Amino acid sequence: MCLSKLTRRSSMYLVKVLNKKSEIEGCGTFAAEFIPRGTIIFYFGRDEKYIPKAHFAALTAEAKERLYKFGVEDEWGNWVIADGDVNHSCDANMLSLFANGIYCEIAVRDIRKGEELTIDYALLYSSFPWSMKCNCGSANCRGTVGSGWPVSPQVQDLWNSRINAAAKEIFAVPQPLFSCKEEKAEELALAIKLKMNPGVFPFVKFSLISKR
Ligand SMILES: [Zn+2]
Repeated sequence: MCLSKLTRRSSMYLVKVLNKKSEIEGCGTFAAEFIPRGTIIFYFGRDEKYIPKAHFAALTAEAKERLYKFGVEDEWGNWVIADGDVNHSCDANMLSLFANGIYCEIAVRDIRKGEELTIDYALLYSSFPWSMKCNCGSANCRGTVGSGWPVSPQVQDLWNSRINAAAKEIFAVPQPLFSCKEEKAEELALAIKLKMNPGVFPFVKFSLISKR
């Protein structure tokens, strides 16, 4: 999906990216350099686009609908508008997750220069039902994806191996996040260093998925 008004601020990217037309849908975000597995690619802190659960309840139906389409919900019901220009793929190369309430995305495999950055929308926590026909074109495309659907053992295995492999390399690859002098980046780096050690990282994500 692509909505120019909601295009992410480039400063939140920790690697070089560019936006252009996507074969999947609309405009997508593409790697403008090689990104090694384990790299934190993007983060989004609690800023003006962060909507706490208490505020969400008071939004109009129209505003909620926009968030359903273009926002990301954490497992506590808070929202960030973060993904207006990153397409879904059933063979996604990034994992999206919240670390200490800060939304981030991490490369779960090596991403070559020019490759489109994608996440698996079905792995996002969601308190509302949604589904969409997928146009990702990957060999393991599931056809239709949605929230609240059982995650097949094949998909779990794929993500389990990718998350574990990426988690092992978080501290081994050049990590732009760790030298980024920005308040939320420093907070995220600390959260990852102190709490999200490689042994805990995969568990956090899968405890979320397994609630479905
Ligand atoms: Zn697909």
